[in-house]
Amino acid sequence: MLIDTHTHMNHSAFDEDRAEALERARAQGVSQIINIGFNRETIPTSIALAEQYDYVYTTVGWHPQDAIDMQPGDVEWLEELSRHPKVVAIGEIGLDYYWDTSPKDVQKRVFREQIRLARRLGLPISIHNRDAHHDVVQILREERAAEVGGVMHCFSGSWETAKQCLDMNFYISFGGPVTFKNAKQPKEVLQQVPLDRLLIETDAPYLTPHPHRGKRNETGYVRLVAEAAAELVGLSLEELAAVTAANAKRLFRRLP
Ligand SMILES: [Zn+2]
Ligand SMILES: [Zn+2]
Repeated sequence: MLIDTHTHMNHSAFDEDRAEALERARAQGVSQIINIGFNRETIPTSIALAEQYDYVYTTVGWHPQDAIDMQPGDVEWLEELSRHPKVVAIGEIGLDYYWDTSPKDVQKRVFREQIRLARRLGLPISIHNRDAHHDVVQILREERAAEVGGVMHCFSGSWETAKQCLDMNFYISFGGPVTFKNAKQPKEVLQQVPLDRLLIETDAPYLTPHPHRGKRNETGYVRLVAEAAAELVGLSLEELAAVTAANAKRLFRRLP
């Protein structure tokens, strides 16, 4: 029973074989998938995927890279869509200082507005953070995100940053990089995260785990992430799967 807590199976990379890729995930022991809808195009297709497959759930949110495209009325649009029974979180939202597609002040405003939305709705949040650790933590704190909690998706920061997020009621999620030989920091941080706050994900089609690195990632590869994580914390694959699935259900309260 594996839960991929962050994937993009509605991405065009799967247009040729989406059904087969989802079938392969089931064969790998994936019981539930949280697909991420993060802008005007991907939110409707992510909801559609969740409506098509009973084990697929979705989020709705505005990605920091697309922050500049958010129009007046879009927060209300997200609020309306969040009433859909298969929407389990607001996200992915956050800050991305690596790709310079939206100005920082716009990213920050859009991030804050959506934390406020999540608090109004009582939904957890899925956080995207790239090269913006300090500002992400500060905004989560100022906007009292601890009231709803959430997950730091594909965490790439230091233990110090992880600790600050754990203190705010957040879970820490790891993906493909923990399977890489040379990825020292995410492995060390994973080993320090309390087991009851640990989540796993693929972020497919990106961040493909070893030994498929360089090719397209898919949601069934969450098993490879789980195997690597299990080894790092000294659990069996079954134990790691059970612990992280229980964590996912505690955080994403709408997951059955
Ligand atoms: Zn992301
Ligand atoms: Zn993502």
